[in-house]
Amino acid sequence: MGRLGSFFRLVCFLSISLIRTGLSAGTGDFLGLDVLSGRCGGTVSYGDGGRCGTVRGKNLELQCRLNGACYRLNGVNVYGQRPVAGQPGRLRISREDWDRVVVPLLSPPAVAPLRRVCIDPGHGGRDAGARRSRGNLEEKNLTLDVAKRLGALLKKRGIDAVFTRSGDQFIALEDRAAAAGSAKCDLMVCIHFNAADSPRAEGIESYILPSQGSASTARLNSPSQKDKKFCINNRYDEKNLYLAYCLQRELRTLRSATDRGVKRGRFKVLEDADCPAVLVECGFLTSAGEGARIADGNYRQAIASALCEGICSYGGCRK
Ligand SMILES: [Zn+2]
Repeated sequence: MGRLGSFFRLVCFLSISLIRTGLSAGTGDFLGLDVLSGRCGGTVSYGDGGRCGTVRGKNLELQCRLNGACYRLNGVNVYGQRPVAGQPGRLRISREDWDRVVVPLLSPPAVAPLRRVCIDPGHGGRDAGARRSRGNLEEKNLTLDVAKRLGALLKKRGIDAVFTRSGDQFIALEDRAAAAGSAKCDLMVCIHFNAADSPRAEGIESYILPSQGSASTARLNSPSQKDKKFCINNRYDEKNLYLAYCLQRELRTLRSATDRGVKRGRFKVLEDADCPAVLVECGFLTSAGEGARIADGNYRQAIASALCEGICSYGGCRK
């Protein structure tokens, strides 16, 4: 995936001016897929009675669904900030999503070569996080294990790793973000595992902070007063999105993994991070199949390797 990622970035770089100027959605709150495909010289097709639309253009395959907020963008699920509107056979995407989700991923922001990455193993100490009853596994130990594996892989690629914790300590969320800032890290990745009441829930998802004025993915249609707040991490909205996309693009290739997509959430650790930051949920401990895979050290090594490849496709690393 690394080579494909580099190719993707090269193509995007060469297309930056064309895309940024030519693909801008222009005026109006929502734009039809036909208008948007015209901007990229592509075509539109519909399936599922007109409820599922696909735009195909140079370097772009975008799928979306009526009333859905998830775009499938070049094979990766990415949630936008407004549901798709229109009628069957005439879908319309919000201008905001086109300009702030699709276009930034087609022409990624310039990223300086990476020097130092902050790795944040979720939970620790009295906060054990999620649990897997079989084998009595605790999230805090699994996140630390993946973090250490990732740090070793990054080191081999010439990148320093700074850890928010290296043992079983409780660390406050604000101190985690502060660690990334005080070490002048180029980015932060917070590692977590998921849990749900339903044993059927499984898959991998990546979270970034919603942009100012937008709600979390879980309550997209009911924004609150809190969503109006500007957080220091909103300075990195485009880089957050691109980093999450790069990580999710690699993580979804893990054995039997379900791509739950790039989502948005107002997590304290993300709000306070003064660098691009992503929180990855690397699978459900409560799923029989995924939980058993996560319990295996070889699979956790594969998670760390996917995270390393994602980081390197975002910012570039030594081969
Ligand atoms: Zn967690």
